[in-house]
Amino acid sequence: MSKSRTANGTAIKQIEMRRCVVCRQVRHKSELLRVVKTSSGDISFDATGKASGRGAYVCKSPECVQILQKRRNFDKVFKSRISDELYDIVKETVLM
Ligand SMILES: [Zn+2]
Repeated sequence: MSKSRTANGTAIKQIEMRRCVVCRQVRHKSELLRVVKTSSGDISFDATGKASGRGAYVCKSPECVQILQKRRNFDKVFKSRISDELYDIVKETVLM
């Protein structure tokens, strides 16, 4: 867990809020799944949430991942065609 310190030295948790690409709600990272585009241009499911690159997030909710697959929101976010497999992985991770 990353921490930062305020001027008086108190340790505080860094607030890591991200927006879901489907419902546009801002949630804590732990409630979201991350897909990342690396510097080499590969787009993959980031199970750790720590891979470097540009990330996009979707809620860990059956509603959001099903709409995600239907609308292919990640295609727009990353401006490229995302494989069906990747959408399946995201959906299965939530629905498992
Ligand atoms: Zn959502």
